[in-house]
Amino acid sequence: MIVDTHTHLYLPEFESPSAAVERAIGAGVGHMVFPNVDLSTIEPMLALHKLYPDNTSVAMGLHPTEVGDDWESVLARIESEFDSTCKFVAVGEIGIDLYWDKTYRLQQREVFRRQVNWAADRGLPVIIHCREGLDDVLDVLSSVERLPTGVFHSFGGSVADVERIRSIGDFYFGINGIVTFKNSSLRDVLPAIGIDRLFLETDSPYLAPVPHRGKRNESAFIVHTAAYVANVLCLSQQDVHDITTANASSLFNLEL
Ligand SMILES: [Zn+2]
Repeated sequence: MIVDTHTHLYLPEFESPSAAVERAIGAGVGHMVFPNVDLSTIEPMLALHKLYPDNTSVAMGLHPTEVGDDWESVLARIESEFDSTCKFVAVGEIGIDLYWDKTYRLQQREVFRRQVNWAADRGLPVIIHCREGLDDVLDVLSSVERLPTGVFHSFGGSVADVERIRSIGDFYFGINGIVTFKNSSLRDVLPAIGIDRLFLETDSPYLAPVPHRGKRNESAFIVHTAAYVANVLCLSQQDVHDITTANASSLFNLEL
């Protein structure tokens, strides 16, 4: 079994989200973690989770690219979701993204810091989205009183970045289709991460792995990333499935 630790199959790109979940299950993806994006994604995400409670888990948080002038009221509404009966396995996805827009950099830092504290308060891990924001992410993480566990999702950094992150805490690294791209140097970073701190993810509907590159991604395609990682690390595909599943189960406390 494979766990897709980061997938947004509930987004409107999927005309039938349940069909996408079922194709994933058919491909051996026994479990999927859905991270939230903003206020508009909560309802479709929870609806899809309720249809497949054993095969999916949900994380709650505000994505950094969705931080705007109304961030305080949005954040309050997102935090109130933790009072519902729904069980969230992580706070996410949260972080810093300065690739698209640097306007809200200070607000992104504050929103990230608050959500890191939510995780520490609740004993949950964080799912970190970091795009051109590693300095800020590490600065916030090293300034909080209690550091939660977590994963750097869609990791695309260097060996030096892995070392900088590890100097702050013992984090996992989410590897997706980027690793299969011809021009990606990520394959050289996998040995530094090591299979014991590695997750497989798709970030569907984005970043489809080769041979689906450029198309809409879905969780079923994770098998290509798994095969690629096995090849680079000289492990059997079964070992990669088993170890990354155990890693995900351990961080997110999944009942698999
Ligand atoms: Zn995402």
